[in-house]
Amino acid sequence: MQLKTILNRVQKFKCFVYESVHIVEHTDGIRLEAQLRPRSNSIALCSVCGKPSPDYDTLPVRWFEFVPLWGIKVFFVYAPRRVNCRHCGIKVEQMPWAKGKSHRTEAYEWFLARWAKRLSWKEVAEVFCTSWENVFRSVEMAVSWGRAHQELSEIQAIGIDEIKWQRGHHYLTLVYQIDENHKRLLWVGEKRTLKTLLRFFRWFGSERSHALAYVCSDMWKPYLKVIAKKAHHAINILDRFHIMAHINKAIDEVRAQEAKELRTNGYEPVLTKSRWLLLKRPENLTDKQESKLSELLQYNLRSIRRYLLKEEFQFFWAYQSPYWAGQFMDKWCTKTMRSKIKPIKKVAKMLRRHRKLVLNWFEAKGQMSSGVVEGFNTKAKLTIRKAYGFRTFRAAEMALYHTLGALPEPIGTHRFF
Ligand SMILES: [Zn+2]
Repeated sequence: MQLKTILNRVQKFKCFVYESVHIVEHTDGIRLEAQLRPRSNSIALCSVCGKPSPDYDTLPVRWFEFVPLWGIKVFFVYAPRRVNCRHCGIKVEQMPWAKGKSHRTEAYEWFLARWAKRLSWKEVAEVFCTSWENVFRSVEMAVSWGRAHQELSEIQAIGIDEIKWQRGHHYLTLVYQIDENHKRLLWVGEKRTLKTLLRFFRWFGSERSHALAYVCSDMWKPYLKVIAKKAHHAINILDRFHIMAHINKAIDEVRAQEAKELRTNGYEPVLTKSRWLLLKRPENLTDKQESKLSELLQYNLRSIRRYLLKEEFQFFWAYQSPYWAGQFMDKWCTKTMRSKIKPIKKVAKMLRRHRKLVLNWFEAKGQMSSGVVEGFNTKAKLTIRKAYGFRTFRAAEMALYHTLGALPEPIGTHRFF
C-alpha cells in the first residue's frame, strides 16, 4: 500500500490531489513530503471571499506541517496560485488544509491541541519535536474555533471566582456555568475589578444576563456591585466554598500570629507544624493525629477556640430553613465577636454585613451543588501551575478555556488522535 492511499483515506480534498510522497533528507532527520497539485479542471477559489476566480500566477512552493507518522515529520508541499478575484483583486487561493499564512495544516493543529489537553504544552512540544509556540498557536486555534461555535442558550446559574496568578497580587476572574447538567468555564478576565466583571456581562449580553436565576460569588465588593446591577433578576448566593475559605484563612492568620508570639516569649511554636491538624475535619483524623491534636489542645491557645468556632460553623450548612439558619448565624457571630480574636471577628462582621446574601444559599437549596465552584477552582489552579511557562495573560487564558471550557470541536473529519 502506498502512503498516497493512506493520505487519500484520512485527508482527501475535492479540488486537490496528492501527486507523490517522497522521503527527504533534512538537517533534523528524514521527512515525508507529500506534493499536492490542483485537480485538473478545478477552479481556484479566492481566499478572501471564497468565490471561484481566474488564475493570475503561481507563487513559490510552501511547506505545511501535517500530522507526524512513526516519529517522522510530514509536510504538504504546494505552490499556491494567486487569483484575480472580481471583488477582492489579486489574492492567494483558498487551501482547504491551512488557514491564512499558517505553516501548519489544520489537521496538525487539532492533533497538537488534543494532545495539549492531556499533557503540558512543553511535553507536547517535546514529544512531537515541535516548538512551544506551535503548540500554543494550535491551542489558540482550537479555542477560538470552539468559542465561536459554542452554545450559550439556557444558562441559568453561574459562579464567579477569582484565582491568584503570577506573583504578588495578580488575579484572574473566572466565570463558570454551574447548572446541574452543564458545567464549564465560560469566561476569563484579567484582574478582579468592577471593570473586569462588567466586561463579562458585556460579552454575555443583556438578554442572557436577564435569564440568569442564580449567581454564586464571593463577598468581594466589586463583584457584588456588578451582579446587583447586571443580573438583578437572579438570586446572588454567597457560596459555601468562599465563606469557608474566609474562615480557614482567618484561622491560618491567627495561628501564624500566635506562633510568632510564642517564639518571642521563648516557647517552641507548637502550632507551626500542626496547622493541618486544625484544618482537618475531626472524622478524618487518624488515631495518632488525634492524640497529637489532644496534646495540642492542652495548650489552651486562642487557636483552639477558633478551631471550635470553625467546627461549629459547619453545622450552619446543615440547616434547611433560611430562618433557622439565620438564627444560628446570628448567635455564632455574637459569640465570635466576644472572642476577641481579630481575624475571625472580621469574618463575623463580613457575614453580618452580607446576612441576606449568605442566607440566599438556603433559598436556593437543592439547586446548587456546593462543590462545583470549589472543584473548578482547584482545576483552574492546577492548569495555571502546570502551565509554568505561561507568562502572558493570553497563554493562561487559552489554557484555561482549553482545559475547562468544554468547547466543541469540528465533526466529520478524520481524528488523528
Ligand atoms: Zn474574493
